[in-house]
Amino acid sequence: MEFSYQTYQRSFQQPLQTRYGPWSIRRGLMVMLEDDAGNIGQGEIAPLSWFGSETWEQAQTYCQQLPRQLTDAHILSIPDRYPACQFGLGSAWEALHQNSVSASVFPEICGLLPTGSSALSAASKLWEQGYRTFKWKIGVDAIEQEQAIFRRLIVALPPQALLRLDANGGLTNESACRWLQLCDQVMDTLRIEYLEQPLPPEQLSAMLSLSQQFQTPLALDESVATLSQLQHCVQQGWNGIFVIKPAICGYPHRLRQFCQSHPIDAVFSSVFESEVGRQACLRLAAELSNPQRAIGFGVCHWLSPDE
Ligand SMILES: [Mg+2]
Repeated sequence: MEFSYQTYQRSFQQPLQTRYGPWSIRRGLMVMLEDDAGNIGQGEIAPLSWFGSETWEQAQTYCQQLPRQLTDAHILSIPDRYPACQFGLGSAWEALHQNSVSASVFPEICGLLPTGSSALSAASKLWEQGYRTFKWKIGVDAIEQEQAIFRRLIVALPPQALLRLDANGGLTNESACRWLQLCDQVMDTLRIEYLEQPLPPEQLSAMLSLSQQFQTPLALDESVATLSQLQHCVQQGWNGIFVIKPAICGYPHRLRQFCQSHPIDAVFSSVFESEVGRQACLRLAAELSNPQRAIGFGVCHWLSPDE
């Protein structure tokens, strides 16, 4: 099959503030496979290097050295250090070999709020658009400041809303305890669905013990960026929630095999892909994400429109 690719970049409407700093441009690659009959399969490579995937430059270099004519063996032999390339080419290959792409029913979608106090007005806007689950990043500003906004946010949201907090691994054990205490305390006002990645990935045992001390559930995200990390955390006995970002998790067929053989509580989530990658992720989410939980794809309002 013939292989071609194109780089792209898209701007955020406003930079996304996380504890990794501001993110203002999403760069990626669109890949295309065409067979002799003229069938086309598209895929998207959307790296997220601060989560441990290859960088955009590495992905581009990898695509550059690939021959124009690819065999299945080429597609299946992308090294594990290129998980976003594995996903992009793997999903293009799947798209090429599936005659019709099933339009499944997707679970509810979680809307991402901006950090800081702009979360308050954004939450009511997203509520009006039909969102019922929201995610708010913490660990960016001082804890006193963030907890003050949090207290306003939980009363501003209708009681049937669900809120997820995401620390991106930016808390200490002490500040994680302060957050979890507060989440447990406010349970009657608003349900905190979970706190995502309170501590850095290397502190798995500390997160395991936190998960036993508090009622508010914990989710792993950075800890399970790649399939081998996911396997490791399952082996270590994590039985909380797993946030899975399929676009950086490697080959879709391997992720499918793993999730089908391990009944984990998985929440599929976006890395700000464009439409091609998003559709591939949503197909996997429809198959594998826990249908009781909203999927983390409510991010379209963050990027400027696809070109
Ligand atoms: Mg996260």
